Amino acid sequence: MMRCIPPSSDTYDILGIGFGPSNLALAVAVSSSGYNGAVGFIEDKTAFSWHGDMMLPGAKMQVMFLKDLITQKDPTSPFTFINYLHEQERLNSFINLRALYPSRNDYQGYFAWAADKFSHCVQYACSASMIAPIENATGEVEGFEVHCHDLRSGERTIKRARNIVMATGGSPALPCGISPQDLSARLFHSSQYLSRLEALKATEKNPALRVLIVGGGQSAAEIFQHVLHEFPHARVDLAVRNHSLMPANSSAFSNEIFDPASVDAFYESSATIKEHTLRHLRHTNYAAVDEDLIQALYGQLYEERLAGHDRARILNYHALTHVTKDDQFLDVTLRDERTQATTVNRYDTVILATGYNQQHAHRLLSGVDHLLLRHPDGSLKVARDYSLETRPSVSARLFVQGPTEHSHGLTSSLISILPFRAHDILSAASKAPDTHLHDKTALAMECI
Ligand code: NAP
Repeated sequence: MMRCIPPSSDTYDILGIGFGPSNLALAVAVSSSGYNGAVGFIEDKTAFSWHGDMMLPGAKMQVMFLKDLITQKDPTSPFTFINYLHEQERLNSFINLRALYPSRNDYQGYFAWAADKFSHCVQYACSASMIAPIENATGEVEGFEVHCHDLRSGERTIKRARNIVMATGGSPALPCGISPQDLSARLFHSSQYLSRLEALKATEKNPALRVLIVGGGQSAAEIFQHVLHEFPHARVDLAVRNHSLMPANSSAFSNEIFDPASVDAFYESSATIKEHTLRHLRHTNYAAVDEDLIQALYGQLYEERLAGHDRARILNYHALTHVTKDDQFLDVTLRDERTQATTVNRYDTVILATGYNQQHAHRLLSGVDHLLLRHPDGSLKVARDYSLETRPSVSARLFVQGPTEHSHGLTSSLISILPFRAHDILSAASKAPDTHLHDKTALAMECI
């Protein structure tokens, strides 16, 4: 039985920062483990949501439905996707659907259903700004403070924990030369797509709207298809930096890279093999488009041409290098990667489907940076149990879910091994001695 701490409390055995699928899987693992430490989560969104701005109609999961929060580890758990369907009285219909890859919308509903069962353990609209060490009288770091900001009331608080599990998700990766401050209602990242689309539809009456989508991954392809559908008179360009849209490598043998055993093998590999594996299997995940979608897009472009329209183009080998904007237009510099020639095209809207950066969590670490160990290339050393390696004076643990591709491989930013990773983290956190953090914190403060 999970011992949750109500949001008003401030001392935890395990405090999760972020409450998306990764820490949700941790909550599920805790609830079925018999762990009786105090566990809580903070999340800066106001309610559970998962890629809400990319919930496009008809979008399918790219991960098989059995790779849910718990099934691979415990198929008898009440938190399986199958039990969700059963509770929703949709199990038979789902079976009739014969869908190994359900809709993203259905899976988002599953995650939200599971998250709802832990709502008493989560403080939503609570943003962490910094993590700082708590030292005892002998100088041992036996806990961490998390500086929090309630986004609704504005109140600033401090939460303390012996184990922190950071799972803050990816942040938009922007092309060189474009900073978050440059983003606007007309120049935005794919992670804002649906919110911005509504505004665009409401204000944009221009029948000859010109839209540029940048990127060669699943987000770019899904948005390209959606914009063509939603704006039947718009001129729509898709700039792809390589030859063209590449199919995701989802063959059975390649897919084994997402097996739990592959994480062990990757973790034990040399730096050279790690780098080779990430490069060799890149299209299992990155810059990779579902083959059915590629086929559908090709068919759609063919039909457009047949009807004598030329409103949709894929600009192969084109990278976005620069954007200037005035009140009305965006002038976009595109570089042809084969010739290095640049052209400037004018658009009304530019959508950057340029991927995600997993280093977001690191912004919280400035207060503990001096305690963390790094590789010669500057990357953080991460133990197999997903804890950050620290100086010997630190007995408290900082775990990370997400920014571990360099150490644990391609599963790091995906949902493929959620129950295994949650189990590894919980096992490691459970082994920590009970330090009565609250009392010793008081002691440490008295000693200062
Ligand atoms: P992504 O796969 O990382 O693709 C980003 C793309 O942006 C790459 O093709 C990259 O080109 C391109 N790019 C970056 N900078 C550029 C520039 N300056 N000019 C032109 N192109 C540029 O990102 P994503 O498509 O957002 O996918 C991220 C993850 O979300 C993946 O795991 C994907 O499977 C998942 N996803 C899933 C669904 C679904 O389940 N239905 C939907 C959307 C996304 P290079 O290839 O040259 O680097």
